[in-house]
Amino acid sequence: MSVALKDIVSYCNDYLSVDRFKDYCPNGLQVEGKGTVSKIVSGVTASQALIDAAVESGADLLLVHHGYFWKGEAEPLVGIKGNRIRTLMKHDISLLAYHLPLDAHPEVGNNAQLAKIIGIHIEDGMDQGNPLSVGNVGSISQPMSATAFSDLVSDKLNRKAVLVEGDSRTVKRVAWCTGSAERMIERADQLGADIFISGEISEPVVHYAREAGIHYLSAGHHATERYGAKALGEHLSKTFGIEHQFIDIDNPA
Ligand SMILES: [Zn+2]
Repeated sequence: MSVALKDIVSYCNDYLSVDRFKDYCPNGLQVEGKGTVSKIVSGVTASQALIDAAVESGADLLLVHHGYFWKGEAEPLVGIKGNRIRTLMKHDISLLAYHLPLDAHPEVGNNAQLAKIIGIHIEDGMDQGNPLSVGNVGSISQPMSATAFSDLVSDKLNRKAVLVEGDSRTVKRVAWCTGSAERMIERADQLGADIFISGEISEPVVHYAREAGIHYLSAGHHATERYGAKALGEHLSKTFGIEHQFIDIDNPA
């Protein structure tokens, strides 16, 4: 079974409402390979290791959350960037990348998928009332201590999360935004969250949590964004009847 590349691209652009986002990179087809697709490989970041694994597995299309051509990045196709793109083009593999649209999508998005895995009931966007909000707020059914919640998340994501305890409050209301969104802790606090989950940690966020009383949980940039591209790949596989494989290139960050 194979499907026209352009059909997959236009389906994804539409499904993820790409036109409605202002982003730091182009969303959609970043590198064009062969015109038909019979196998999709998905992964978090279009690193050389993921591209090599995609070549090895016979992919026609590589689907990622972190592609190329970020604002401020050097443009010439030389060095590491040149090698990555040369490998894709040499093997006629297309690169399809979705950044914010894949964080925000209410079903396959990184934030929606993270909620499903941890068991958080989604109530709203962190940008309240916006169905395409990047980041959400919701609740867990059984209130628990911050350490118990941190252990639960570590267990579900198979990665030790870093907990910064605020005050002594138990966790019931949760806000989260995958990737590197630790600065959104202030917004999480305004929304009345007991804990805010994101991927990375920075020095000021620790003081903010301690002084505001909200807990902060740094659960890993890679670990929190491992599920969106995979869910989209599975969705495309079902929709178009083509093969899909998610390849996880381990990353401690
Ligand atoms: Zn990210």
